[in-house]
Amino acid sequence: MSSSHLPYGVADLVIKAIPDDERLWVPQAPNVWFRPLFLNTVAGEWINLLRVRRSGVLSRHRHPAPVHGYVIKGSWRYLEHDWTATAGTYVYEPPGEIHTLVVDNDDEMITLFHVCGALIYFDEQQRPVGYDDVHKKIEMCSQYYAEIGLGADFVKQFIR
Ligand code: FE
Repeated sequence: MSSSHLPYGVADLVIKAIPDDERLWVPQAPNVWFRPLFLNTVAGEWINLLRVRRSGVLSRHRHPAPVHGYVIKGSWRYLEHDWTATAGTYVYEPPGEIHTLVVDNDDEMITLFHVCGALIYFDEQQRPVGYDDVHKKIEMCSQYYAEIGLGADFVKQFIR
């Protein structure tokens, strides 16, 4: 799957982003999945596809570091802004703002997100209620891939 021409053993990673194998999508919430692509434990960042097949509020969150998004399919928006990200849109999210991710219809949405740092989740009273970081994403993948028989180590191919 990958090989390295570097003397210190860091392998390249060349994979089909939208996988043929449906099982590679890691469930995150009802009708919400992520597909890990690059899990960087050194810089504390990750790149994944987010896939949503439901409408409504997905999360309220804040990023302590930049986020880049590229919409592949469907659309989404933040309640706090007047734009909608549709297929082909690139989004840069500056750190610091609490925003609320919503999908307006049940059409499938797929967006590639490069998340630096974390997502910190907030309730409507602006209280922190949870977080995601690259280490938690790795744990989620490891646990899920073990459960479905691919093995806990399956996620290691995405980790650098
Ligand atoms: Fe965000």
